Amino acid sequence: MKLVYDLDLPALVEMFQTWDEPAYRAKQVWQGLYQHFWNTPEQFTSLSKSLREKLAANLRWDALTPDLKLASSDKQTIKTLFKLHDEKVIEAVLMRYDRRRTLCISTQAGCAMGCVFCATGQMGFKRHLSSGEIVAQVMYYARLLNEQNERVTNVVLMGMGEPFHNYDNTMAAIDRLNDADGYAFGARRFTISTVGLVPSIRRFADETRQVNLAVSLHAADDETRGEMMPVNKKYPIAEVIEACRYYVTKTGRRITFEWALIHGVNDTPETARRIASLLKGLNCHVNAIPLNPTTGYSGKATDRQRAEKFKETLEQAGVPCTIRMRRGIDIAAGCGQLAGKSPL
Ligand code: SAH
Ligand code: SF4
Repeated sequence: MKLVYDLDLPALVEMFQTWDEPAYRAKQVWQGLYQHFWNTPEQFTSLSKSLREKLAANLRWDALTPDLKLASSDKQTIKTLFKLHDEKVIEAVLMRYDRRRTLCISTQAGCAMGCVFCATGQMGFKRHLSSGEIVAQVMYYARLLNEQNERVTNVVLMGMGEPFHNYDNTMAAIDRLNDADGYAFGARRFTISTVGLVPSIRRFADETRQVNLAVSLHAADDETRGEMMPVNKKYPIAEVIEACRYYVTKTGRRITFEWALIHGVNDTPETARRIASLLKGLNCHVNAIPLNPTTGYSGKATDRQRAEKFKETLEQAGVPCTIRMRRGIDIAAGCGQLAGKSPL
């Protein structure tokens, strides 16, 4: 059975038509879901009891069951582990920073890409999330924030999984959340992060969404990147950067490159110079984050001094760079990568 969040408005209208119910009733449900954040059929009190029973009987409403909630010591970061209906587990994180309320959400349970430094990669692939399971993570936190009169301001798809490996469901989720009659979350407030699946970067460039794109680069030569990220054997650095150039030309948008700084592996001034020459003339910026240690990988995080030097070298060579210090590090247990993500 489908989740209520798996349906877009036309699909909901169609379902109502099969019950001989008018379209405006479906729209009421849509608004209840996405403007009032209702998540049980009983809350739709403007509908008849029999219609509420039909909604309960024909759709699943239990997208996510919060299993474990962790708050960082400063309470500004909240991470929730959710159980899916088949007992698979995912996580989503809320980060409060100034006026920003950024969510970091998952697109898959586990991940098939196998990046050696990544906790999700270390656990392997479990399954794709449905579009509704992706939407539900946002609605969970939207509801929570709404109780405090707050709103989600940014959504980054940097949790578990590779969004472009689950392309259609990811885009359907973004489009659903973007719907002007529903949650109306601006496309520009989303950031998709990809490991660098070249055909999908090109496809994404060809589509018209205003969503931001970040590409996980992490190394300036194929040997190093190949050791860190198996996907590099299929899509080496030159091809990834070429696809990124296509994206920037096609969309006119700036692209972000992510860089997990690992001591002695990818944090030297030589590496910074090499990457700057590869990125020459590209409207981009580098988002560098000291590695978040995970149990399955022995690499160490770059210290602040080396990180600053890396940034300085990049910037002298013409590539803007931000160093993000890790946030919520004390609650990173389980999926190391989620600490420290901020919006662009
Ligand atoms: N699969 C996508 C999005 C999820 S990972 C991708 O790889 O881009 C989000 C980001 O976290 C990626 O840039 C990824 O390389 C990075 N990351 C993963 N593990 C990390 C770790 N241990 N420390 C720092 N960054 C990490
Ligand atoms: Fe998957 Fe991204 Fe982790 Fe690589 S870094 S294993 S692509 S989630």
